[in-house]
Amino acid sequence: MNADLERLIALQKLDSSTHDAEHRLADEPERLTALDTRLETARQQVAAAKQRLADNQNARRGVEKDVAVHQGRLSKFREQAMAVKTNQEYHAIQHEMAFAQAEIKTLEDKILELMVEADDLTAAVKKTEGSLTTEQKTVDAEKKALAAESIRLKAELDQLRAERRTLVGVIDPKALAMFELVAKRRNGLAVAEARDGICTICHVRLRPQVFNTIRRNEEIIQCDTCQRILFFVPQPVPSQAATGENAHH
Ligand SMILES: [Zn+2]
Repeated sequence: MNADLERLIALQKLDSSTHDAEHRLADEPERLTALDTRLETARQQVAAAKQRLADNQNARRGVEKDVAVHQGRLSKFREQAMAVKTNQEYHAIQHEMAFAQAEIKTLEDKILELMVEADDLTAAVKKTEGSLTTEQKTVDAEKKALAAESIRLKAELDQLRAERRTLVGVIDPKALAMFELVAKRRNGLAVAEARDGICTICHVRLRPQVFNTIRRNEEIIQCDTCQRILFFVPQPVPSQAATGENAHH
């Protein structure tokens, strides 16, 4: 293979890896924010569940106060019933007492209802707290992984940049200038594989004579359409192992 073509292919690999690593690094703040949002959502669910339980308990205390009021009236009526002089007065007080007892019964039913609901609400608080604990562990682990990845990517970028500096020092300046120009115009992708007579990036069919020249990988040839530098990967000869594998099946 043409030495400069081989170097340009290597250069493209370095640049593409650099591009990927830079993207991953640039995405990190967004990924951190997404993790914090997950945690915040879980915290809000706990707070909302606790609020619903507190509302239930407040409602129950309110009903219990009402029960106490009616019970107070009831004892007052009982005292009055002892002191009545006439049948008419007695019946009137009996009527008031029946009314207060009916009220207490209704309110006590309401308290029972609230207590049953409180059991469900307490279970819901426990469930959201469990989810928060799980989420906290997941987020901690993912943040740790993200921090480790950040260190790894920065080291990788240093390495890639060092390799690039060394490589560009030995590439023919004209070939390098061609690469840099195409890379700039083509979103960082200056090299393309030619396969089955086609530029695999812009998908334009190459002239047969051009494709034949590219197959030899001895010259630096650009795609007429996208200007990318083309190379050819020879089809691997089926190995003994692969043939054996096929025969086996
Ligand atoms: Zn092309």
